[in-house]
This record gives sequence, C-alpha cells and structure tokens, in this order.
Amino acid sequence: MARCQTTNTHAAGYLLTQTRNNEKGKPTITYMNEKSSAAPLKSLDEWEEDVLRRYPDPDSIAKEKTVDEYRNYDAPVRDTVKEFYRLNHTYQTFDFVQQKRKEFLSFSKAQMTVWDAFDFLNGLVDDSDPDTDLSQLQHLLQTSEAIRADGHPDWMVLTGLMHDMGKVLCLFGEPQWAVVGDTFPVGCAYSEKVVYPEFFQQNPDYANPTFSTQLGVYEKGCGLRKVTMSWGHDEYVYQMLKDYIPEEGLYMLRYHSFYAWHREGAYDYLLDDHDGDMLKWVQLFNPYDLYSKNPTPPNWNELKPYYESLVKKYLPAELKF
Ligand code: FE
Ligand code: FE
Repeated sequence: MARCQTTNTHAAGYLLTQTRNNEKGKPTITYMNEKSSAAPLKSLDEWEEDVLRRYPDPDSIAKEKTVDEYRNYDAPVRDTVKEFYRLNHTYQTFDFVQQKRKEFLSFSKAQMTVWDAFDFLNGLVDDSDPDTDLSQLQHLLQTSEAIRADGHPDWMVLTGLMHDMGKVLCLFGEPQWAVVGDTFPVGCAYSEKVVYPEFFQQNPDYANPTFSTQLGVYEKGCGLRKVTMSWGHDEYVYQMLKDYIPEEGLYMLRYHSFYAWHREGAYDYLLDDHDGDMLKWVQLFNPYDLYSKNPTPPNWNELKPYYESLVKKYLPAELKF
C-alpha cells in the first residue's frame, strides 16, 4: 500500500535551486536529497487533521471539546506537520509550479473509469493506523453524503465525491508537499495569513524581485483565474473536471485548500468580482470537507446506484489522468 512516498527518480530528489542560465533560457533545476524528510507525514490525513485543529468544528466544540483541547496536540504530530510545511513552502516556487503543470496537465498518464479511479486512489492508505482510518473513497462519500443530506444540488454532491481525486498525484510518485497542504498564489509576495509563513523565507522566490512585490507578476484585481496557485491536488482535479461541473463546483475543487483566502480573507488585491461571487460557494463547501468525517464508513453497496447515475449524468465514461 502506498502512503505517498517518493517512488521515482524524479520525485526522489527535492528542488533546491532554479536558475535560467542555459542558452534557451529554460530553468535549470538542481535536485538535492533531503533524505530524512522524504515523507514527513505518516499519511496525507495528518495534514487534514492539522487543518481541523486550526479550524475546529464550532458544533463539536460546543458538544465535546474545548478549543484548547483541539489546539493542544502531541508535539511529534505537530513536528511532522511543521516539517511538511517547511518542505512545501521552500520548494513550491513559481518555476516548480510551471514545470508540474506541464508534466501533469496534458493528462497523458492514464485513462480509467471513475470507479477504477476510486480503487486506484484507495491504494493510498494510512499505514500508521489501518484499523481506524477511513479510505479515501470513504472520506469522499462522507463529504458527498453530507452535502446530499442537506439538499444541495446534485452537481455539488458530485463535487464532494470528486474533490480529492487529485491525491492520485501521490500514486504517480509526487512528494507529499506537492500534493496536499494549504495552497497559496505563487509569483507574488506571500501573505502572513498562510500557515507557517516564516518558512517562505527559504523559498528562492522570496528574494526574487520579480516575485516578491505584493502583486508580483499579476495586476491588481486580475481575478484568481489569472493567478497561478501552488501545485497540488486542487488544481489537478479542477483541470481534470473543468468541462463537466458548473462554475461554482469548479471553484470548490480548485480552491478548497486555499484557506488563506476562504477562511482568512487574504489576497483581496488579487480578487475580482467573480471571485467575490464564488467565495460563498467555496465557503459553503468547506465544512462538508472538514467536518463530515465519521468513524462509521458509509454503506457503499446501498449508495452505489445513486452515485452510478450521478456520475453518468455529468462525467464521461473514462477520466484522463
Ligand atoms: Fe482536499
Ligand atoms: Fe477532502
């Protein structure tokens, strides 16, 4: 079973520096091993558990725990998450994102039905505690079922079902820090509202005059559609499904990990009116993703007919990866 280890030669190294010193002006990328930190998280869920600690469910706080109890977690867990963010903030440069977009957005790696894709995604498990953790499909179903129970439109249920499909990037050998984690714009100054902002000082872009002003390579109010986000499962699944799901759902897919925006209100100088209209949809989606986790797995056999017809209604017979 895979847990987002670095498995191929490309991903086994970590991006250290990028310079534009060859004749064609293309970036020259130097990789360096950071052995001890190949996969600091025991599973991708550890990142989500950390998000939950930052943004605890107001209802559960009232019922079960105090905010302090949520925020007070074991130092070893905090350290792995911190190390994960150190890698993420250090290596997600503007050029790194361009390179990943080129590598993955041609969707030439694989082609499979949605159901085979769920089987594939379920190869990602938390091997630290296999008895209590839900599979990826179970998290997706709990999200979509919570949306359905509240009577939202069927395309939003489908969005819930598909929102983490981009985590298959791990199974293509991508390191954790290039699959999950809070996302943020690249090519402009980093907001202090992004978690662990101090680690951005290690990013080569931090001292690059092109990228380090407030607007960087963007224009004021240009809209998020013109902004390049750090690379990960959000952008990948958005690009995969952009022809099939309504705009509101596409915003949910594309920006669900952009907490600095939808939770903290940062980067307002990059937004346009359309982003303003879409924000409420991203915010509507987020609690279903964060707070629908439940130890009881959904009964897939009972749910299957509904989801088969939902998938058929919106998606092609096979998806490209
Ligand atoms: Fe996600
Ligand atoms: Fe999720």
